[in-house]
Amino acid sequence: MAQTSSKNKDEQGKQSFAHYWKQNLRAWKMWYRQSPGYFASTMLSSACGALAPYGTIWLSARIISELSGGRDPQRLAFWAVLTVGATALLALANGALKRWLGYEKSRLMAVRFKPLADKMLTLDYAEIDRQEVQDLYSQIRQNDNWGGYGLYQTLELFPNFCKAAVQVAGGIGFTLTLFLTDLPAGSPLAFLNSPLALFAVLAFMVLVVALSALCDNKATLMLTKRVSEFTFGNRLFNFYGFRLTRDRKAAGDLRMYRQIKNVGEPLMDNGIQIYHPGSSMAKLSKGRVGVLFGLCQSLTAVMTCAVYLFVCLKSWGGAFDVGLVTQYVGSATQLFGGISQLLLTLSQVRVNGSFLDTTFRFLDLPNHMYQGTLTTEKRADRNYQVEFKDVSFRYPGSDRWALRHVNLKFHIGSRLAVVGPNGSGKTTFIKLLCRLYDPTEGEILLNGIDIRKYRYQDYIGIFSVVFQDFHLLAMPLGENVAGAAEYDRDRAARCLVDAGFEARLDAMPKGLDTSLYKDLDKDGVEISGGEAQKIAIARALYKDAPFIVLDEPTAALDPIAEAEIYARFDAIAGDKTTVYISHRLSSCKFCDEIAVFDQGAIVQTGSHDALLADETGLYHKLWHAQAQYYVTKDRR
Ligand code: ADP
Repeated sequence: MAQTSSKNKDEQGKQSFAHYWKQNLRAWKMWYRQSPGYFASTMLSSACGALAPYGTIWLSARIISELSGGRDPQRLAFWAVLTVGATALLALANGALKRWLGYEKSRLMAVRFKPLADKMLTLDYAEIDRQEVQDLYSQIRQNDNWGGYGLYQTLELFPNFCKAAVQVAGGIGFTLTLFLTDLPAGSPLAFLNSPLALFAVLAFMVLVVALSALCDNKATLMLTKRVSEFTFGNRLFNFYGFRLTRDRKAAGDLRMYRQIKNVGEPLMDNGIQIYHPGSSMAKLSKGRVGVLFGLCQSLTAVMTCAVYLFVCLKSWGGAFDVGLVTQYVGSATQLFGGISQLLLTLSQVRVNGSFLDTTFRFLDLPNHMYQGTLTTEKRADRNYQVEFKDVSFRYPGSDRWALRHVNLKFHIGSRLAVVGPNGSGKTTFIKLLCRLYDPTEGEILLNGIDIRKYRYQDYIGIFSVVFQDFHLLAMPLGENVAGAAEYDRDRAARCLVDAGFEARLDAMPKGLDTSLYKDLDKDGVEISGGEAQKIAIARALYKDAPFIVLDEPTAALDPIAEAEIYARFDAIAGDKTTVYISHRLSSCKFCDEIAVFDQGAIVQTGSHDALLADETGLYHKLWHAQAQYYVTKDRR
């Protein structure tokens, strides 16, 4: 399978640690802008969590020293009460801070994918269309799904980093005297006082900790290098086992052709081989990765032994009393635990860095479309003159012209029908009109000025489009029509009536407040394709823009509903300039002008009667082909 064996270049790529650290800081800054509270609560909670053990260790050491030394009941009681009180207070503070942190984290989790969604929504339309962009996005989601790699992981790393840093700082403070307190001169272990011996002991301890962190890092890297292979199984399962099975549109086909059973399951089985006992991941885990993780744990045990040995030897030699043994063992274990955690966190920064590279590659995708600054004047007379001037267009990455030398002037307030065979460029023409793409050659003018010079939001404000593949949201009907949560209810209802939805609206249990679909509301209603199309038309009417573009507006309607729409066409179009794309030529009769597209070019323009009269023209041919089809069908 191509995807299985393909190496993810980014995840395999090697960059310096400084590069990954910078990426990590960038992610922290991004999260910080979303929620400063998360960072404040994390820092306080980590500091409290990391310092609390030292407090307890220090106080316990005082009690043990007292027990093994003066044994004064009053002092013992004092230390005992202080220990209990301080422990209780610390636990309380810890609990409160954790709750605050939990609250901040859950708020942040709610917007976890917001940076990605925002980017997707602001990308040039042409970029979204590119397969590489879609692949990049799905790779990011898969990395996140697999192990939280990418932006999410940086949120996990921040508390670990803070806790480890405070733990190390506290540990140094509490263990400093362990290394600085000399053994008495006559002690047989007095050689431990020499700087060389101290250095050797410290170096050994740091080396063991570093080796342990290195083993952990190597094992994690081995696993993450194979992420693209592992996530492929996840991807298949997500698609066949989850997304496809709950896709209402696919439900009929899935049952009819048993597609999941016959195609999906064998594929999923193949994809999730990774979880089987003999899989490459299992072999890796039982083999080198397992050995490295085992080694990491063993080295931690060696470290603990070394700390005990050193502290006990110094105490035995007379450097300090038995109470301090508890303090030093406890705090040295904490210190080296902190160092180990710090090294681990830094190595995770490195591991996660390559995933962050992928995320930032997506977030840094540039928009290439020129963004003008002119505002379109608000004109009550709707006098917006749009003209295509020798426009040619090739889709990005394609060497075929989808449109070639298109010249067309829209007459204000008139109805233009755009017809032509499949693939002749009708939808592309509309996409250029709405500036979803810019022409490859030529220009489109609004009142004599290139549309690129206008502010994009202003320009598209003059269009209401019902795209062929329009989309309604699982929200209340009225909000769908208005495209907003606050809206004019009378106007929304009027637009639905104008679009022919009156009878269905009356039957809606909660009128405009009825939710469409059941995704977010169990009382939501299912609607047919034709009904959805009427709602989409009502939405275009509600926007009340000077131009209304209907791309195959009656495709999903039955002949009666279609006839209704035609009858209402004047009410729908009003004084707006209307562009009407249709396969059914009979529906163009009531348009003022018809533009016939063929292979990306406008081959004929004129009224229905004039075009029909030209017997050599494409319109005549298409008209008779359709008429013939209906006649043949009727005769059957
Ligand atoms: P129509 O709406 O008349 O059926 P289109 O405007 O959809 O035709 O398509 C015109 C041409 O552009 C066709 O050859 C089609 O294959 C091509 N085309 C459409 N969309 C894309 C795209 N996103 N990328 C590349 N080519 C495309």
